[in-house]
Amino acid sequence: MINGNFNEYQLSGELLKEISLLNFVSPTEAQKMVIPAVLAKKDIIVKSQTGSGKTAAFAIPICELVEWEENKPQALVLAPTRELAVQVREDMFHLGRFKRLKIATIYGKYPFHVQEKELKQKTHVVVGTPGRLIDHIERGTLDTSEIHYLVIDEADEMLNMGFIEQIETIITSLPQERVTILLSATMPQDIHVLCSKIMKNPTRVEIEDKNPAVDRIDQERYLIDPSDKMQLLRDLTMVENPDSCMIFCNTKQTVDEVFAELLKLNYSCEKLHGGMEQRDRLGVMNQFKQGLFRYLCATDVAARGLDIEDITLVINYDIPYDRESYVHRIGRTGRVNKLGKAITFVTKNETKFLKDIHDYIGNEITLKERPHEETVHQSKQDFKVKNNTLPEIKETKGALLSTEIMKIHVNAGKKTKMRAVDIVGTLCSIQGITAADIGIINILDVSTFVEILNDKGELALRELQITPIKGRLRKVSKADR
Ligand code: AMP
Repeated sequence: MINGNFNEYQLSGELLKEISLLNFVSPTEAQKMVIPAVLAKKDIIVKSQTGSGKTAAFAIPICELVEWEENKPQALVLAPTRELAVQVREDMFHLGRFKRLKIATIYGKYPFHVQEKELKQKTHVVVGTPGRLIDHIERGTLDTSEIHYLVIDEADEMLNMGFIEQIETIITSLPQERVTILLSATMPQDIHVLCSKIMKNPTRVEIEDKNPAVDRIDQERYLIDPSDKMQLLRDLTMVENPDSCMIFCNTKQTVDEVFAELLKLNYSCEKLHGGMEQRDRLGVMNQFKQGLFRYLCATDVAARGLDIEDITLVINYDIPYDRESYVHRIGRTGRVNKLGKAITFVTKNETKFLKDIHDYIGNEITLKERPHEETVHQSKQDFKVKNNTLPEIKETKGALLSTEIMKIHVNAGKKTKMRAVDIVGTLCSIQGITAADIGIINILDVSTFVEILNDKGELALRELQITPIKGRLRKVSKADR
């Protein structure tokens, strides 16, 4: 059993370096259980709350175990939503960066042919949502013959969303010889049935959160008339004056309405729901992660698994009708041992949902009186000042890694028959650069992108101005990130 240090695992230097650059000092409880099991190639079922470091728990051993030389995908991660798939991909990308792992994301509402092209290239890990993954498997654009690691993330949500048959369809296309990892915040009976069908003598672990999110989060509720919700939202945001706040509504329409009202009032805000274009959804998530605006109005699309630093306040403008959603929503604050606050609006007709939540969390949410007019008035000035000040930009995960890595653009690609070996050969002919300094190479039709690691970017960039690649001097420049 590992106690407090990643060095105690049999992990390669590349991975340990990535872990340390991500500032992971010691493994979380989930990681202590999952990393050794997966490294020993054992199936494992993990019951663990959101925010417990689950992604890295499976991503670390998988990044360690996949073989770089293999061109076909070796690991498949199933996620219930596109946002979660993108986030898991990001985490795996950071962890696998020094090993030069290629991680593809596959989800619906995105051009099929672009994904098809990506899958044609060397790919180590595929992260995706079930429907589109099946399309690719059935059309032969995703080769599953070498998938030896399968992760089913947020399994309970997958079942809630009716993905069970799709998951089974995907699994029938995978090799029998594989490690299966299933993670879930809750363990309904259906999951046990699924596990018995698809896993071999799995180890079952339940990570007891010693300091669960629900205990770390200061939870309050207000009994409110529906027509008065907007006014209460204004008053409370003024009094609380959060640096970063998520406002959850039950429908897209309410998100649109609340967002429009807040915009009218000049709040620094954005919205997120399933009716928006995928590109816009991802753009909003990224901007919120970086702290470019303070208030995000969203449906439950944003409730699950999404990991955003330092959200100080969650407001349930509508009480969630499903008790598990409550825990997921409020879990957006109080991440990884931080404190947070969650406020829930409850109308007279919604007391049955409230009771259900109370039974589920084993506690009563504190009932509060709305703030006095005087208090709201006194808060106005501070609120205005903060609202008119640009939020502090948060350092994105992996920013530290990026300082050591420079992405270079070469204006030649597949059309001029550029191959990875041509790039590697040229770079290695430069004194001071070896293959270990070369990261991911992405060859497109008329361009090639190369990551240069270990702070050797400037050297490579300078030398490539005077060093021919494949017999010719190429236009080489620093690529925009
Ligand atoms: P997850 O449960 O995967 O959503 O992870 C929650 C957050 O914890 C993410 O921001 C991770 O980057 C972070 N994290 C994961 N493992 C560790 C660790 N060992 N030490 C510190 N932070 C971690």
